[in-house]
Amino acid sequence: MPSFRDICIEIKKYRLTTASLLSSPIEYLKGVGPLRADMLKKELNLFTFNDLLHHFPHRHLDKTKVMSIASITPEQDYIQIKGVLQGIEMIGIKRSKRMVAQLKDETGIIELAWFQGITWVQKNIVEGQPYLVFGRVSFFNGKAQIVHPEMEPYVAQMMAQKSLLEPVYSSTEKLKARGLNAKQIGKLTYTLFQQISQKDLPENLPSHLLENRMGRWEAYRQIHFPSSQDHYKKALDRLIFEELFIAQVRLNLIKIDRHKNSKGHLFEKVGDHFNTFYNKYLPFELTGAQKRVIKQIRQDVAKGYQMNRLLQGDVGSGKTMIALMAMLIAADNGFQSCLMAPTEILAGQHYESLKELLKEMPIEIALLRGSTKVGERRRILKGLLEDTIHFVVGTHAIIEDIVQFKNLGLAVIDEQHRFGVAQRARLWKKAIIPPHVLVMTATPIPRTLAMTAFGDLDYSIMDELPPGRQPIKTVHRYETSRASVMDFVKTEINKGRQAYYVYPLIEESEKLSYEDLMQGYEQVKSFFPEPTYKISMVHGRQNSKEKETNMHRFKTADTQILVGTTVIEVGVNVPNASVMVIESAEKFGLSQLHQLRGRVGRGMEQSYCILLSSVKIGREAKERLKTMCSTNDGFLIAEKDLALRGPGDIDGTRQSGALNFKLANIINDKVALELAKEAAFLLCDKDPNLQSTENEPLRAYLIAQKAKIGWGKIA
Ligand code: ADP
Ligand code: MG
Repeated sequence: MPSFRDICIEIKKYRLTTASLLSSPIEYLKGVGPLRADMLKKELNLFTFNDLLHHFPHRHLDKTKVMSIASITPEQDYIQIKGVLQGIEMIGIKRSKRMVAQLKDETGIIELAWFQGITWVQKNIVEGQPYLVFGRVSFFNGKAQIVHPEMEPYVAQMMAQKSLLEPVYSSTEKLKARGLNAKQIGKLTYTLFQQISQKDLPENLPSHLLENRMGRWEAYRQIHFPSSQDHYKKALDRLIFEELFIAQVRLNLIKIDRHKNSKGHLFEKVGDHFNTFYNKYLPFELTGAQKRVIKQIRQDVAKGYQMNRLLQGDVGSGKTMIALMAMLIAADNGFQSCLMAPTEILAGQHYESLKELLKEMPIEIALLRGSTKVGERRRILKGLLEDTIHFVVGTHAIIEDIVQFKNLGLAVIDEQHRFGVAQRARLWKKAIIPPHVLVMTATPIPRTLAMTAFGDLDYSIMDELPPGRQPIKTVHRYETSRASVMDFVKTEINKGRQAYYVYPLIEESEKLSYEDLMQGYEQVKSFFPEPTYKISMVHGRQNSKEKETNMHRFKTADTQILVGTTVIEVGVNVPNASVMVIESAEKFGLSQLHQLRGRVGRGMEQSYCILLSSVKIGREAKERLKTMCSTNDGFLIAEKDLALRGPGDIDGTRQSGALNFKLANIINDKVALELAKEAAFLLCDKDPNLQSTENEPLRAYLIAQKAKIGWGKIA
């Protein structure tokens, strides 16, 4: 049975011995000399036949219909008409000189006009002859006109032989100047199809995926030179599916290979710790999503390979409980666990809540972070080394080399977007067999993006909130109504609630200055004077002790208002806080706004989020705020974010070849992506080495491909 390593060796051999026609340099194409080749390379990155083949037309000019002149309206763009040419005349002098003519059919007359190349046109057109005319219609003084039309003498049977949907390719000004406009690139493509044949584009899909799907060769031809709109659509569908399917097959193969080659601790049983907790101390019923994810984790850790699971859950979906249950499974199998958080505040909070949940359980738990005192630190280090401490919660203090475990079996990393890959790698060094890793993030990524960007990881999605939560009411207000916003906040506080004021000051940098924050603080203070009201403040310039103290005062309801920067963004849990005011909300991205808002809506009371912005904001900012007001669903918001910004920018996506699709678009082609994913999974699951006859074409294709991504990793 060949392994993937064998396949990679095959790939190398293949590259040495074969060179397909499609890999020929572009200058070998008829009509492309060295000069044109240079231009095509520089301007459009077209180096080979294959590149030209994949330079797809962005639209087609529809020459299937011939309109009657009377039916032309200003809404039309390109039109095709047929008529007799008459009334050629020259108008104007010097620079305003032009030639016009009339084209007449049974229904009416339209004007044709030329401003350039007049002499040549004049020589080549004949009055009184019928022509087929194509061009963009414009209206001038209420009269329809076509400037610089394409024309050819009309012959009755010509329509049958023409390519009626004419491809339009992107070109550049420089190329146009050298005689390579959209149309001429079309000619090159046409030539290309005369030089290549079906054997250059062999089928790569197994036959069961070809039912109701266009064949590969046919699809490439039809996407460039379709014989009808319907054929074009089928060709496009086929090639989009192929693109997504191949990417998914690759991701599956990488995943299978990683599982095969990564040894991991075997957590065979679910024992007393887990069961006792589940039956006696679990304070609520788990949501369906939580149950599903715990099951996935249990399956992962029982397989003998290292789990590397990404858990995406919307804010408030209850990820901490997942972490705890996974840690209990580790403990049942005699392993220690660590839970890492990106900030001291969060680590402290996790520690407190786990300690509370586990107070009746025989589990020793410790908190280790930068501010941990020397004596306590010494005790923890010893406990970890001797396995008298089972769970340790902390910040990246945990990954310092001095921290050694007797038996680390599981590392949970919370809010991953603040935790670098390099830091995670240091965890591996703490054991010969690396611990299982569960990365939790509350920055939802649209499903489709996750499927393509993280398809080689194991990932879980929690898109269900615990029952009984009241949706947060979100409104957008302009700064001009700040006074009434303050009044509203006051009413809420007088009811016993607490409130956040957030400023877009990100650590030390940009957006708002530190002075602005202080000014904001003073302003809040003037609305909420002491001693009736108490305010605490957290920001990036404070040391962790100060932050902690101020947070603590808010948490224990000693202060009613917390003024802060995005430091409070992640994880902070104060259920009594039910109002959040976000200042200069237009300066935040969607996912960050969503994260921030997730700090309220954690208790039984109705919660509010008020987005304050200046009066003058751009269209996109408006769209963001509108989205926030219309939904609380993090996955929907992420999708909107993706649509607004495009996939390149989304946090947490890796540089992944999976995003460089030529035809597929993960926003629009969701259905195809789901189909491709399902098909790829089934296929790889059944035949992970692609050995069956049915999968021979696919295997041959993957081997022949200059495997840039994925396979390179395997070799
Ligand atoms: P996040 O996913 O944002 O980290 P948390 O783990 O902080 O969410 O959970 C948010 C709140 O929901 C916590 O107060 C937690 O105790 C509570 N919670 C978690 N799971 C459930 C559940 N199944 N039913 C009710 N409340 C839950
Ligand atoms: Mg959390």
